[in-house]
Amino acid sequence: MKGPSLTMSTTTFPTASILGYPRIGEHRELKFALEKFWKSSPEDRDSYAAELHNTADALSKKRNDTLSSLGLDQEASIPEDFCYYDQILDLVCALGATPDRFAAERDILAHHSPESAEALAAQFTIARGEGDRAALGLTKWFDSNYHYLVPEIGPETQFEFLGSQRLAGVEHYPHMRPVLVGPVTFLLLSRASESAPDDFHPLSRLDDVLGAYEDYIAALSSVGVSWIQCDEPALVSDRWSIPRKDILAAVKRAYQGLAATAKPRLVVALSYGHAADAVDVLAETPVAAVHIDTVRGRWPSAEEAQRWSQSWRDRTLVIGAVSGRNIWRADLSGIFNNLEHLKENLHEDVHLAVSTSTSLQHVPYDVSLETSLDPDIRSWLAFAHQKVEEVAILARGLNEGKAAIASQLEENQAILAARRAHPGVHRADIRQRTAAINEADRHRAPYPERLAAQEKALNLPPLPTTTIGSFPQTSDIRQARAAHRRGDLSTEDYKAAMRKEIHHVIRAQEEVGLDVLVHGEAERNDMVQYFAEHFDGFLTTTHGWVQSYGSRCTRPSILWGDVSRPAPVTVEWSGYAASLTDHVLKGMLTGPVTIMAWSFVREDIPWSEVADQLGLVLRDEIKDLEEAGVGVIQVDEPAIRELLPLRSSEEGEYLRWSVGAFRLATGGARPETSIHTHLCYSDFATVVDAIDRLDADVTSIEASRSKMAVLPAIAEQGFERQLGPGVWDIHSPRVPSVAEIGGLIRRATHALDPRQVWVNPDCGLKTRGWEETTATLKNLVEATRLARQASSTNSR
Ligand code: GLN
Ligand code: ZN
Repeated sequence: MKGPSLTMSTTTFPTASILGYPRIGEHRELKFALEKFWKSSPEDRDSYAAELHNTADALSKKRNDTLSSLGLDQEASIPEDFCYYDQILDLVCALGATPDRFAAERDILAHHSPESAEALAAQFTIARGEGDRAALGLTKWFDSNYHYLVPEIGPETQFEFLGSQRLAGVEHYPHMRPVLVGPVTFLLLSRASESAPDDFHPLSRLDDVLGAYEDYIAALSSVGVSWIQCDEPALVSDRWSIPRKDILAAVKRAYQGLAATAKPRLVVALSYGHAADAVDVLAETPVAAVHIDTVRGRWPSAEEAQRWSQSWRDRTLVIGAVSGRNIWRADLSGIFNNLEHLKENLHEDVHLAVSTSTSLQHVPYDVSLETSLDPDIRSWLAFAHQKVEEVAILARGLNEGKAAIASQLEENQAILAARRAHPGVHRADIRQRTAAINEADRHRAPYPERLAAQEKALNLPPLPTTTIGSFPQTSDIRQARAAHRRGDLSTEDYKAAMRKEIHHVIRAQEEVGLDVLVHGEAERNDMVQYFAEHFDGFLTTTHGWVQSYGSRCTRPSILWGDVSRPAPVTVEWSGYAASLTDHVLKGMLTGPVTIMAWSFVREDIPWSEVADQLGLVLRDEIKDLEEAGVGVIQVDEPAIRELLPLRSSEEGEYLRWSVGAFRLATGGARPETSIHTHLCYSDFATVVDAIDRLDADVTSIEASRSKMAVLPAIAEQGFERQLGPGVWDIHSPRVPSVAEIGGLIRRATHALDPRQVWVNPDCGLKTRGWEETTATLKNLVEATRLARQASSTNSR
């Protein structure tokens, strides 16, 4: 009895699996345990380390119990991808690939067990930095909102397997399938270390890193696991400086070695898009299964199925058909039909299995925790647990035939039909408005005409000073918002508290002497959620946390229906602020693309259409602000680069609709209204052109850390409008001096025409304290005064 089923289970990839699972805990248990550990004093660090381990163990146990009860009950069905902070940081530590400045930490990692308080602390020091030793950089994981720590690899990096917490995890649960980011993706995601020569690329260290991977895999196999998953998502992107053929050659070399030495079988996952050429290359290695993403990627063509029928004989093709990126119930019948069709085209010796398109780390745990949601809408949603159920249903259909899952398919179709028929999903009034949009709606008067009108209307000095919008969010403000939400503070009292704060912020700006004032955004918990709460077509969750990085989580809103604006959202606050001062006041909105990037967005209509619906409601808001006397309006788009497709061929279409939606939002503004936008980064060579196309009168960007390095590129493009390159790095509490800010202003006025330059911080001040805010803004105003003086004496 046991014999054959055991061989089956260890050689065939499980029909039902998921690529990965959230790790922060349904109630963010890991977050709180981590933060306690970080705050602990040296004396009680050991006990907080123990608490952290207990939390992790409890989460592991719960994960195992839940996932197997939801249908992941085969050998190797459940991924072991837990980590304390980040999957790439885990690898940096496991492979000994730490930058030189963390030599002491590497030493600790080499000599202590990965579970020790010392090793944990060392790992977190690398993640979070210490004193003047900067942390590893933090960057977006593909086109998701998760951020990973960027390895720094150079010719000097000494790869050596130092041990890993992953081992302890599978020792407890050897039926699990440990997950590692694969070597090619690891090196492609790395940056060259500071001491590396100019022409060095981390991928040139492939052979050396493979040795450490081999030892890692050997250690995992000694525990007795049957499968190991290597994630190679970098292969779906073409945004690397290395030719594709060299990347594919690296894949072949890597997996020929790893899969041959591995006792457990290897499955390579190609998530976040499609990489059919990598499937062909992997077929030339002893890898036993390959995963493809059919959600953001595509289903195999008949021709590919034929080819893979030869090359994947006796191996498994894992179809990632349930989205790991959205929170919508899948179309199970549609997927199942595709699976059956694929099966017909594949040789019968190619095993077919079902999985998620990516790890489920991008979605919350469980819809059933959302007890206060509208039950209709709730029935359309699938968080991680619901997605596991979907995978299990599809796998059962594959194993037992369609009849076995007929009732589940029927139920699923009924839910999808109810969703399509819901009145909020398709509103005739809104569809008529979007259908009537024409190109002219996306165009304002020519810039020179606007500039003249704005100069007359606003009468600002040269080098105008302003901020990006938010001011320090004190605990008083947070408490007032929370009390109002709970119902403990009446709306009237809440509004009075916010007005008091606005008053304070306005006076503070007048005192330091800024030119263009803001109301401070005290009423906003989050720049996207705030608008989601005030527009129709959105809902917000209570437990829908997803990890952003480390212990940080966000709770994305869900954009489920057609978008409308029942009433003006910001006019009350900005109007009140304007009434308090004779200075120019800038109103603050979040742009359509950023609202989409930081929400879960419906996928039943094209995103270009969703973006235009948002563009229209923001257009109405701008009109209302103008009528309330607000003559400067900033539409923030810090996320416009985040949705940039992973394949460069798709970039043009993306920029067309994203830029188009921004211009629809701002295109109705009067010529004398100055439209600002804010982008949250400086290395935007790829979108310099898009900034120009946004056609904002003033664009503020992050620039202080790079010391304005991006300005020459912008000047070269012939950028003719105004730019506010940040002169204060708001990520740190440090107060830059007048001289330091003055130096940055000088760089800006040398690179650009001084008439184009604004003076402002890099970003909003909500995470800063008042003390450093006031001190820095004073220095900023003084540095600007000196710069103005210098230029007027020069021109005399
Ligand atoms: N206006 C926002 C603020 O100041 C902009 C934030 C951002 O760019 N992420 O907080
Ligand atoms: Zn910003």
